[in-house]
Amino acid sequence: MAKKYVYKFEEGNATMRELLGGKGANLAEMKSLGLPVPEGFIITTEACTQYYADGEKISDEIQSQIDEYVKWLQEDTGAKFGDTESPLLVSVRSGARASMPGMMDTILNLGLNDEVVKAVEAKSGNTRFAYDSYRRFIMMFGDVVMGLNKAKFEALLDAMKERKGVKQDIELTGEDMKELTAEFKKFYKDNLHEDFPQDPLVQLNRAIGAVFRSWNNERAIYYRRVNNIPDSWGTAVSVVRMVFGNMGNDCGTGVCFSRDPATGNNDYFYGEYLINAQGEDVVAGIRTPEQISLKGSQEWAKNSGISEEERKAKYPSLEETMPEAYKDLCDVKDKLEKHYHDMQDMEFTIQNGKLYMLQCRNGKRTAAAALKVATDMFDEGLVTKDQALLMVEPNQLNDLLHPQFDAEDLKANKDKIIAKGLAASPGAGCGKIVFTAEEAEKQAAAGAKVVLVRLETSPEDIKGMASAQATLTVRGGMTSHAAVVARGMGACCVSGCGDLKVDEVSKTMTNADGKVFHEGDVISVDGTTGNVYEGEIKTVPATIGGNFARFMGWADERRTLKIRTNADTPADAKRALDFGAEGVGLVRTEHMFFNSKDRIEAIRSFCVAQTAEQRQKALELMEPFQTEDFKGIFEAMNGYSVTIRLLDPPLHEFLPKTHEEAQAVADKLGISVDDVEAADAKLKEFNPMMGHRGCRLDVTYPELGEMQTRAIINAAIAVNKEHPDWNLEPEIMVPLVGEKKELNYVADVIRKAADEAIAKAGVRMTYHIGTMIEVPRGAVNAGELAETAEFFSFGTNDLTQMTFGFSRDDAGKFLNDYYDKHILEEDPFAHIDQNGVGKLVKWAAEHGRATRPDIHLGVCGEHGGDPESIEFFQRLGLNYVSCSPYRVPLARLAAAQAAIKVDAEKAAK
Ligand code: PEP
Ligand code: MG
Repeated sequence: MAKKYVYKFEEGNATMRELLGGKGANLAEMKSLGLPVPEGFIITTEACTQYYADGEKISDEIQSQIDEYVKWLQEDTGAKFGDTESPLLVSVRSGARASMPGMMDTILNLGLNDEVVKAVEAKSGNTRFAYDSYRRFIMMFGDVVMGLNKAKFEALLDAMKERKGVKQDIELTGEDMKELTAEFKKFYKDNLHEDFPQDPLVQLNRAIGAVFRSWNNERAIYYRRVNNIPDSWGTAVSVVRMVFGNMGNDCGTGVCFSRDPATGNNDYFYGEYLINAQGEDVVAGIRTPEQISLKGSQEWAKNSGISEEERKAKYPSLEETMPEAYKDLCDVKDKLEKHYHDMQDMEFTIQNGKLYMLQCRNGKRTAAAALKVATDMFDEGLVTKDQALLMVEPNQLNDLLHPQFDAEDLKANKDKIIAKGLAASPGAGCGKIVFTAEEAEKQAAAGAKVVLVRLETSPEDIKGMASAQATLTVRGGMTSHAAVVARGMGACCVSGCGDLKVDEVSKTMTNADGKVFHEGDVISVDGTTGNVYEGEIKTVPATIGGNFARFMGWADERRTLKIRTNADTPADAKRALDFGAEGVGLVRTEHMFFNSKDRIEAIRSFCVAQTAEQRQKALELMEPFQTEDFKGIFEAMNGYSVTIRLLDPPLHEFLPKTHEEAQAVADKLGISVDDVEAADAKLKEFNPMMGHRGCRLDVTYPELGEMQTRAIINAAIAVNKEHPDWNLEPEIMVPLVGEKKELNYVADVIRKAADEAIAKAGVRMTYHIGTMIEVPRGAVNAGELAETAEFFSFGTNDLTQMTFGFSRDDAGKFLNDYYDKHILEEDPFAHIDQNGVGKLVKWAAEHGRATRPDIHLGVCGEHGGDPESIEFFQRLGLNYVSCSPYRVPLARLAAAQAAIKVDAEKAAK
């Protein structure tokens, strides 16, 4: 049998969203619930992918099915395309599997032509309605199907309003609309050298193709990338009989929510409508819509300082103007919420007093609303705990932890976007541009708000980053230093903003349009979207309500994965503990040297030391810092396990960069600056990410591993003395291991130093030695490594870097081409590449367990804080994920959701 590409609403249901798109499937479902949905059919997402496979052509097979359904629609409605007695008019709308609001195109009033419009005029007795509909159709068709500039049509409308001396569209008369229609048609012909098509079937086929093509417009592509929606899905197209909200004062159109999407409140019916208008008028903001419920309207009037008399006369609610339709809408709302077990976002039109539903979907909502809706619906018995847990998008929890831009102000400033980068660390920051970390610190100390703009960041910048409202870098991907550090601090950061040219010498920043910004100019950085704006945008502080803790408690009951944190300082560890972390999965010991000049100079001294004596001196500088910090982290974690990794400094991040920095190191070591600079030149590596870092350093300089082990063990002994009931068992982790003998060599160094320190203190202490799995060879030979390693922590940042051979620091420059050309769909540094890197993780986990059944397995790469990756790790049965402190809450929720999904799959099998 030929494949079915077209479905009537009656033939579909809500489970068919992959095929019918979310909008189509929900229209079908509403129809089956007996709700008032106008007649129509859906052309499937498979027809869209076929359209692309056929070189952007609708195949004969699909065309014949469309023709058949058009015939059916005409019979069913008793209306016919092009008929002057009973003309059929339809809307043609997009609708993908996942909702992509406003990203793709829609065409309304299709079927109108020079003859039909007259029939509509005669039948409705309303010239204005008929020609307003026709001119809108010409504009939408010209814009969406033929690529004409919509703004030019609008300019014609504005010119007419000016000529007629009116301000609002609604003030134009029927004759004006007639005139405007003629102008639109002329504009169409002048630009396209053909008449506006009069045959509705031609209109329809062209419109369907255009909606398919809108799947690949720039907005849609960008939205998919940001929201991880695969390019391969395609959009469905629904063709629905038009119902008109613009036929007179017993007509209207609106959008409503079953609960308030901003707060989650359910005290009145929240929504807006316009009398005598078509759908896009509500969204476009040309006229200000009114509230649908009386209570909502009164609330609005109170907030706007409008008296009850004035409200009633000028701004009445739908409940007052069309009580019957309002009552029907309330019934629909209740029915849909109960049916879908979730808050609904609905679009409706009222034609001559009769209600029609045009769309419903699970409503988008703020994080605070999401928590309230989920907990309220559980209390109301509408959902189970598992269902409630699945209602909140884990990434949204971020919004509750960081200050955010005011949504209204963001909307108002959307034309002020000057650049786009990677949304590296969420939050909102605005302030004056500064180009150095020192300047950021200085100005912040003096009370100024600054944004630190850098080509890339280095360890010295950390304090500047901490004092800035946001950090913006030209280079670097999601796992670049700036991004990792900013996320760790919970600071707003946009990285990899390659559109910008930054000249740190002349202190200027130039965007792709050639606009130049100077030090002191104010910009706003949105770490949640990656957008950078000119000027200041208002922010609102983070709010954590009571629902939050309750909801997170449910997540903790449900998940099986433990959540640890990547923390490099006691303050980070404490914050993570407050956010619910159950241990530290990774202390990057090299990061412990970022936050003071003394510390940076100590680690630099180690990097440039050329003799055993110099190295010894550097290690002596480092050891007290390390011991103190480890103590602090053990203390902060309240007895939870802490995994500390031996030093892993990629040299390009740690060598002195300027003469002054070299001088400072020379002073520390008591050698000449020339010697330091000579050492520096000698140490420069072509591939620092694959250079002398990780355990390779301990192989060359075992005294480093000895010092670090001593510091860890001594810190743990000291803390155990304070808290004998904690019985700390430090976990010492070896980075960048690829070979069993390499691990054994370093493990021997650790054991010797640890046993000596324990014996010297005269105590008993158990410690554990484990390894990072982050070099592909290490993953492949995980079975052998497990003979020595008591635990594995997957360093999926390096594992991704080395498996793809993509540099962590440079891949951002070309990955966009990979997305554009559909070679990759998402950033493998942000979401685990299940088909490659993921296979190595799976293999290593299986072989590690085969050797050592009780081996403890976790992930400490950035993927440990990514919901999609967490689901994958749940499937592999790992023990824990570890992520930066601010991601801990989202990881707790993602782990609970992963457990629910995997259990459901098992049950289904
Ligand atoms: C990793 O490679 O995944 C990891 C956690 O180590 P780092 O990011 O410090 O290289
Ligand atoms: Mg690594």
